[in-house]
Amino acid sequence: MTSARRQPVLGILGGGQLARMMAVAAAPLGVKTLVVDSAPDACAGQVAPLIAADWTDYEALERFAAQVDVVTFDFENVPAETAHRLAERVDVFPAPRALAVAQDRLAEKTLFRECGLNTPAFMAVDTRDDLDRALASVGAPAILKTRRLGYDGKGQFRIRALADADAAWMALGAQAVAHGLILEAFVPFERELSVVAARSRDGDFRTWPLTHNWHTDGVLSLSLAPAPNIEQLQARATGLARTLAEHLDYVGVFALELFVKDGELLGNEMAPRVHNSGHWTIEGAVTSQFENHVRAVLGLPLGDTSARGCSAMFNWIGELPDPAPVLTTPDGHWHDYGKQPRQGRKVGHATVCAMDMAALKLRAHGIAQALQRESQVQPLLELT
Ligand code: AMP
Repeated sequence: MTSARRQPVLGILGGGQLARMMAVAAAPLGVKTLVVDSAPDACAGQVAPLIAADWTDYEALERFAAQVDVVTFDFENVPAETAHRLAERVDVFPAPRALAVAQDRLAEKTLFRECGLNTPAFMAVDTRDDLDRALASVGAPAILKTRRLGYDGKGQFRIRALADADAAWMALGAQAVAHGLILEAFVPFERELSVVAARSRDGDFRTWPLTHNWHTDGVLSLSLAPAPNIEQLQARATGLARTLAEHLDYVGVFALELFVKDGELLGNEMAPRVHNSGHWTIEGAVTSQFENHVRAVLGLPLGDTSARGCSAMFNWIGELPDPAPVLTTPDGHWHDYGKQPRQGRKVGHATVCAMDMAALKLRAHGIAQALQRESQVQPLLELT
């Protein structure tokens, strides 16, 4: 008689599109998922069971912990207390310490420098006087950001000249007490890259090829991978990502967002989770970031992170366009997150792949033309 088989269950804190794509990647591995989100209609709930509970509903979190083998995150701003309490009951990856560093822009940039990754000049700002001191040191233009809970350009104020200091304080000063602020020099970068990396429980470390990213109003709009013309930057980015991962004893997938200025890398931020700039890996790489994250946190071997050819990813913000031009393009792939349209909300993405850049540009341009979104693809077409 065969004994009953128990499938592993992955618990995910946060039920957005990242949890949804993780749950989809977990299924062929025989891994079940259970999601926690405060919103009962969170979009991951369409593909996995969901417990609707707040981060401080410890009774619900106890029930959740009792049902899962490992806990991971779709959302990095889960309160540290919640992550610590869960870590007492069940394995949590990435560990709460890594999460804490990535939650605080000041701690994160300090760690980057310790690990040999240069950053834009920065200074902590807790008071209005601090802001004057920081501006005197960092100079203008600069960006005032909340240290915690900012994402996609939210919680940021661009200071073009010293005279903007009052306006910046009006916009963000109230958050100085709760979240702390940081002033960063504005970097007139040549381009933005990200390296998405995976580290397993036993220390195996891999990166996908560097991705070239373009943002609109602080939100990712378009990604191209592998980033062309990167020469020695891939080896440097991989080495820095490995140093950071080993320093944090990191387990799972993370992304390191980088600026290129004068051909050198500067660290912008680290996302302690699967990342929007890695969505192209679903169709464009041998193993996707979602699958490798599931493998890493469950203690399974990592898969090959090579690109299959080249890929472009378009983010759909606010509302979805017509899927037909993507669905009728060779190697075009549509992702509808099942969310209600809302201004500024990431509601889906599309990836188009090809064997070379010339073919990729033609396909991406064809899609953008049909959708009357040529400006979104323009930076890719302009690359030589
Ligand atoms: P963040 O939320 O910090 O990743 O910022 C979102 C986007 O704003 C980045 O991807 C950049 O395009 C831009 N940005 C943020 N910080 C800086 C900076 N110090 N200099 C120039 N651009 C920046």
